Amino acid sequence: MSTVVANPSLPPAHVLIGDKWRPAQSGQTIPVVNPSDGETFTRIARGMAEDIDAAVKAARGAMDGAWGRMTALERGRLLTKLGLAILDHYDELVRLEAMDTGKPLKQARADITAFARYFEFYGGCADKFHGETIPYLDGYTVMTLREPHGVTGHIIPWNYPAQILGRSLGAALAAGNAAVVKPAEDACLTCLKLGELALKVGFPPGAINVVPGYGEEAGAALAGHPGIDHISFTGSPQVGTLVQQAAAKHNRPVTMELGGKSPQLVFADADQDAALPFITNAIIQNAGQTCSAGSRLLVQDKIHDEFVTKVAERFKGLKVGASDMDLDCGPLINKDQHVRVKGFLDRADSAGFAKIAAGTIAANAPKGGYYVAPTLYDNVTPEHPMAQEEVFGPVLSVFRFTDEAHAIKLANGTDYGLVAGVWTRDGGRQMRLARRLQAGQVFINNYGAGGGIELPFGGVKRSGFGREKGFEALNGFSVIKTVAIRHG
Ligand code: NAD
Repeated sequence: MSTVVANPSLPPAHVLIGDKWRPAQSGQTIPVVNPSDGETFTRIARGMAEDIDAAVKAARGAMDGAWGRMTALERGRLLTKLGLAILDHYDELVRLEAMDTGKPLKQARADITAFARYFEFYGGCADKFHGETIPYLDGYTVMTLREPHGVTGHIIPWNYPAQILGRSLGAALAAGNAAVVKPAEDACLTCLKLGELALKVGFPPGAINVVPGYGEEAGAALAGHPGIDHISFTGSPQVGTLVQQAAAKHNRPVTMELGGKSPQLVFADADQDAALPFITNAIIQNAGQTCSAGSRLLVQDKIHDEFVTKVAERFKGLKVGASDMDLDCGPLINKDQHVRVKGFLDRADSAGFAKIAAGTIAANAPKGGYYVAPTLYDNVTPEHPMAQEEVFGPVLSVFRFTDEAHAIKLANGTDYGLVAGVWTRDGGRQMRLARRLQAGQVFINNYGAGGGIELPFGGVKRSGFGREKGFEALNGFSVIKTVAIRHG
């Protein structure tokens, strides 16, 4: 879209409470490493329980004060202004996101475009979201009011910090809630920058508070805080369980956006050339660190060899390098993730799966970066961890199926149910699969890797519950109050 500023101004190692930036009460900070070279380039505040407590109080103050009294129209205008402010700081935000996560610049650009779009979309929704009247007994008028929960907590992962903050915060604010955000310790610079922009465009103090820190410290404190009225969590199923347990102590509602092991089903009648770029992109986007990554490729017997050869050709051409090199894949987020993904590759090799193609890591990629070449494995057995667990790296496993029933059985054969892709020209089959696949989103002859801002998104089974994105998210970020009036 545009050029990228070379050195963006880095947010200070502070927490945002109300309208004040200050160090964490512990005085401690956390190093921020650029995954492209493994070097520390800045520090963030190490927020803990006392900072979360202060943030929750500030958010409560906002609900009882200027923010809580605002009309839906005023809230919508502020959200729209925030979206425009993001676009005004586009280059800087792109650069921050790329340095923080290692993603290629083109991906960071797409993310910051979506970041702005969430606030524009929810800005437009704020004053169009309302309750209903319900026909009831003679002499009664019954209505429902859509009310905010109050103080909402937002726990954000590192893979798409800006996008996921935008989708969760945009909807929560549009519905009239105040927010305490706990971004991921591995990538939170754009979340902090958003706090700065929100104050600049006139959000009242306390409407948005941002407390970076470790999950087991600031995150756990937020999930279990009695002053939180709703928690929106995006992250791994394991941590999702901990967050649910913490919120259950105070019986607070939660939205869980967890992982996935999403299948792409390619039938013999598919338009193969149309499918190929979608199938490759769905697994290499963000180096496979995408909840909705299309990590399982199910191909019908009749076209298996022909189609997998074409996918392999694409994999062989894929290049990996630093975010600035703007290649097909950037590095993985950190050392742990690098070791973890390499472990999956080793286990796949020991299991004897056919490694039929791999991309290349550019020779001039910085030495300390966490790079993994995109890898394609064929004949993976459906019960192996490669077929069942989230690898969260650019690794695609191929399976064969005979007919529709076999394809559905394989596709539904994991604990997850986030997204599915179906490639077929048969209209009847498209509709049958749309209904029978266990997933929150089914893409037919396309694959959205999470879909657009307007499309409700979320999982079934271990992928979570509740829906974010689209108008639907406003339901999750509000409660219905029924008012029955007997007037005779
Ligand atoms: P993670 O679960 O390790 O961390 C997510 C967030 O939870 C971070 O902010 C972390 O600090 C915090 N956290 C960690 N321990 C905590 C605790 N005990 N209490 C409260 N908070 C705690 O996930 P991650 O590694 O950052 O992200 C990758 C995972 O997120 C993958 O499983 C991926 O599929 C999932 N994800 C899901 C979606 C979706 O929309 N369904 C989107 C993106 C990522």
